[in-house]
Amino acid sequence: NLSDRLTASFKQLRGKGRLSEADIDATVSEIRRALLEADVALPVVREFAANVRERAKGAEVSQALNPGQQVVKIVNAELVEILGGESRDLNFAKHPPTVIMLAGLQGSGKTTLAGKLGLWLKDQGHTPLLVAADLQRPGAVDQLQIVGERAGVPVWAPEPGSGVGDPITVARSGVQQAHDKQHSVVIVDTAGRLGVDAEMMQQAVDVRDATDPDEILFVLDAMIGQDAVTTAQSFADGVGFSGVVLSKLDGDARGGAALSVRGVTGKPVLFASVGEKLTDFERFHPDRMASRILDMGDMLTLIEQAERTFDAAEAEKMAAKISGDGDFTLQDFLGQLAQLKKMGSMKSMLGMLPGMGQMRDQLENFDEREIDRVEAIVNSMTPAEREQPKLLNGSRRQRIARGSGTTVSDVNSLMERFEQAKTMMRQMATSGGKGGMPGMGM
Ligand code: GDP
Ligand code: MG
Repeated sequence: NLSDRLTASFKQLRGKGRLSEADIDATVSEIRRALLEADVALPVVREFAANVRERAKGAEVSQALNPGQQVVKIVNAELVEILGGESRDLNFAKHPPTVIMLAGLQGSGKTTLAGKLGLWLKDQGHTPLLVAADLQRPGAVDQLQIVGERAGVPVWAPEPGSGVGDPITVARSGVQQAHDKQHSVVIVDTAGRLGVDAEMMQQAVDVRDATDPDEILFVLDAMIGQDAVTTAQSFADGVGFSGVVLSKLDGDARGGAALSVRGVTGKPVLFASVGEKLTDFERFHPDRMASRILDMGDMLTLIEQAERTFDAAEAEKMAAKISGDGDFTLQDFLGQLAQLKKMGSMKSMLGMLPGMGQMRDQLENFDEREIDRVEAIVNSMTPAEREQPKLLNGSRRQRIARGSGTTVSDVNSLMERFEQAKTMMRQMATSGGKGGMPGMGM
């Protein structure tokens, strides 16, 4: 899926020192392919790829982030952008009732949405009325009535026995009813067809003209893939709409519809429907959707933290030291530990990295106090010992263990690991990378 493809393309960048032009090209074309496979519309993909390329080329060489992280950050920012940036609220009428009309294909989730939105508005102190203007499908009125009952929201429907009324009359009288009974919002459910056709579109236009809606919400089944774009375009041309609701986002949706609809129609996604229950409904947040598509766990949070806490000057000093005479001392090691601690607890930090599945068990056993212990040991050394670990003979190690409340074997194992870290950092330095996080050699 999209997330996997993107993750794979970012992985190729790990371990590289700097974003080269060739890296950017390779990554961008991988992203292009991944988006196309996820049914994102071609013009949207083109724009997206161009924007990512531009941003990546203009990106300053980051001290805090490795190239993989840098690209994740850029791709995420572009995703948020293409999904609409900020989330938008419903437009409420100056003079109630606010009229909200629902449009979309049959089965897209309009009737379910009427209930969800009704409940959501009711919880915010509104007094919504649902209007059953879908008289096309047998049982459609009953369905809305059941949904309304569950949500505890009244439903306006044609009189039983009055024969099948016409949807325009029902819609108009529903809005009138809302006026009379002082409902603050009216939600007009409409008919849809399995495919777009002229008759259905005309009916939607007539309902629109009869009710003069403040919002027309186009309900789009997020699972319909490539068809999402043409359907959205037909509704945009046919009835027009002011916002989009993505439904069935709980399914195996690949995210393509979400990415395309905003890009193709220019209309914001207001809500996401994420299940069959009335409460499976939420405001749509472009930033959350972006991280969902990227499936980066809390990678992005980690990136932010790394950037915030990273001390560039410290890093430069460190890089000079490591690549210079390899004189990486315990004092430097202590400095790195302090950086690590600033970034939050080890456990939560490592837990944020994606693809850490099999490491989770090990993490469970990971003792966070380990860092404190290491710090205590190093702090119990004299400055000379920190600069020249060679000085650490048996009696000095005993003294340090006593001073730090640890054992000689703790001190020994720390020194072993320190030597390993030192070797590793030297290798990293000679292979030209400042990438990776400081202190991870521990
Ligand atoms: P309408 O024809 O546009 O009114 O669509 P309905 O509201 O009748 O929904 C069609 C089907 O999709 C029903 O079985 C709903 O229970 C289901 N459905 C609607 N929204 C969602 C959703 O967000 N997630 C899931 N899983 N199913 C949904
Ligand atoms: Mg319906």
